[in-house]
Amino acid sequence: MKTIDYVYRFDPQNPSVKPSPPDAESARRVLEDGNRMFSEWMESCRTGTFSTGEERYVVQCNGLEVGMNRSVGQMPKQVPFAVVVGCSDARVPTEMLFGQGFNDLFVIRVAGNVMGNECQGSIDFALNALSESVKVVVVLGHSGCGAVTGAVDSYLRPLKYWSKATSPMLRSILQRIFVAVREGANALDQVWGAGARDIPGYREALIETAVSLNAAQAAFDLRNEVEAAGKWEIEVLYGVFNLKNHQVCMPVNPGLPPSPNNVHLAHAPTSPKEFQTLGIQMAEILRAHLTSGDHAATVAAPTA
Ligand SMILES: [Zn+2]
Repeated sequence: MKTIDYVYRFDPQNPSVKPSPPDAESARRVLEDGNRMFSEWMESCRTGTFSTGEERYVVQCNGLEVGMNRSVGQMPKQVPFAVVVGCSDARVPTEMLFGQGFNDLFVIRVAGNVMGNECQGSIDFALNALSESVKVVVVLGHSGCGAVTGAVDSYLRPLKYWSKATSPMLRSILQRIFVAVREGANALDQVWGAGARDIPGYREALIETAVSLNAAQAAFDLRNEVEAAGKWEIEVLYGVFNLKNHQVCMPVNPGLPPSPNNVHLAHAPTSPKEFQTLGIQMAEILRAHLTSGDHAATVAAPTA
C-alpha cells in the first residue's frame, strides 16, 4: 500500500493564492467545492485510484497566515469567512472535510451540535467581532451522531435517560435534541404507517431523520438571530456530513453512491413548517432505502 499525504501548502511565490470569498453565495460554493475535493480524495484513498496520479491531498493556504510578509512579533488578523457549528465527533474534522486551512473557519464544536449558552455566545462574538469577514454561518450535523443516538434511545426507552450512566450535564444535551426526535418520530409514523416502530431499521431511520432535523432547527434559530441583528448579508446554511462517503448533503440519501452532485448545503428553514416537510422527505428517502434491501448500510456505528 502506498503512503498517502495530506498537505497544507504555503507557496511563497503566491502568498495570496486563496482570496476570501466576497459574498455569502461564493462562500457556500467554496465550502461545497472543498467538500467535493475532500470526498473525492477520500474515495480515491479507499479504491487506490488517484485521478491526478498523486497520492496527496493539497489544501492551499495564504502565506500570510504562517508568518510570511510579517515582521517578528506581529500576529495575523482573524478573518474567517464562515462560522461552523459542528459536533465534537472525532470523525468529523471541520477544516479537513471542507478543504480549508488556517484562518478560514471559526469553528464551534459541541456534542450533538446543540445550541447551548456558550455555543450561542461564541456565535454572537463571531457575528459582531468578525463581521467584516464572515459571510455564512453553517450548522453541520453528521450521520451516526452519538448525541442524537442517545436522545433517540432515551425517547424510545425513557429509563435509559434516568440511568446513572446519563449525567445531568449529558441530559441537558439530550433535552435539546428531543424536539427533533419527536418531529422525526411523527414523520416516520406518517410515512411508514401504523406499527412503524416495529419495522426493522426504525431506530436507525429515526436517528438519521433526527440528525437532519436537529441541524435544521439550529439553523432556523440562528437565522432568526442573524436577521434580528440586522446582518442581512450573512446567510445561514445547514447540512449533514455522511460518514460513509464523506460528503456534506441536505437532504441525506444513504442509498446514493458518492457523487459530486450530492454535495449541498441548504439554506436555513424560514418557517417551522419546513421541519415537517424535511421530516417527511427523510422518512420517504429512508423507506425507499429500507425497501431496496440494503438498509443495514444505514445502521450507525456505536459512538461516544
Ligand atoms: Zn455527533
